[in-house]
Amino acid sequence: AKDSGKNNYCFYNAELSKSMARKMEIESELRKADRDSQFSIFYQPKIELKSGAIAGMEALIRWEHPKLGVVSPTEFIPIAEETGQIDSIGEWVLYQACQQTATWHRAGYDSLCIAVNVSVRQFQRRGFVSTVRNILEQTGLPAQYLELEITESIMRDVSETMKVLQGLKKLGVKTSIDDFGTGYSSLHILKELPIDTIKIDKTFISNMEKQANRSMVRSIIDIGLNLNLRVIAEGIESEEQVAILKDYHCALGQGYLYSKPIKAEMFEKLLADSILL
Ligand code: C2E
Ligand code: CA
Ligand code: CA
Ligand code: CA
Repeated sequence: AKDSGKNNYCFYNAELSKSMARKMEIESELRKADRDSQFSIFYQPKIELKSGAIAGMEALIRWEHPKLGVVSPTEFIPIAEETGQIDSIGEWVLYQACQQTATWHRAGYDSLCIAVNVSVRQFQRRGFVSTVRNILEQTGLPAQYLELEITESIMRDVSETMKVLQGLKKLGVKTSIDDFGTGYSSLHILKELPIDTIKIDKTFISNMEKQANRSMVRSIIDIGLNLNLRVIAEGIESEEQVAILKDYHCALGQGYLYSKPIKAEMFEKLLADSILL
């Protein structure tokens, strides 16, 4: 028994140094990365559940490294958040996404809203609101077509968060609480925050066969409706889930059932083939 314990220890050590080496490699490759050739943005449609129309899309970053291959954002975003690299990566995403959306507006799809993920660190950085304002000016996208998705963890610093949210609201930019229900949240605070949308986390949607999860989803939707917020469900993969969500009066949805996140050119085809709002 002692022997295997010792082996385990060595095993963990080896695993640990392997994952640390990987982390350091990602950090240094991120620093060197030529953004415009290695990064891209995929778009996943947001669907108005009643009509099936495309209301907008979420921008999701993709990284393809010449040697490492495709690195998932679930792996490199947390590293970039830790090192601070997220500040400039996030700005890159915001600019590209707004520029692309402005282009689609000019092509006639002028009701499309773009949702962009923003890390807590980015959100709480000094000058964030002016950065957003500048990007809107440079790209020509009207503010009301931009929505920033932030997670519940921003509530840890309520007074700072409140200031930024008010600044964004003044600009006319929309805000949404992502992964709602999974994190640090307080209904009392939620009521006070000037946000527009809550996004029900996909873990609740994927487990909706279970009664307990269905009740949770229903409660979240009711809270949203009572607070006059828009509610969107993420991770929709089946028609059954859509039927339940519609029954609960959830207005918007997103998920593989409709489309995976896709390249801009593919998204354009999707737009051309569908009826817009
Ligand atoms: P998220 O913001 O919660 O995005 C939803 C994730 O679920 C995306 O993974 C999306 O591709 C995936 N997804 C969408 N529909 C379905 C579905 O029906 N079923 C399942 N199982 N999954 C679905 P992705 O693209 O790998 O992104 C992972 C996370 O990385 C995002 O989670 C977000 O937290 C972060 N991320 C991605 N792009 C950015 C970015 O530009 N900036 C920041 N700060 N974070 C980003
Ligand atoms: Ca998101
Ligand atoms: Ca989410
Ligand atoms: Ca998530």
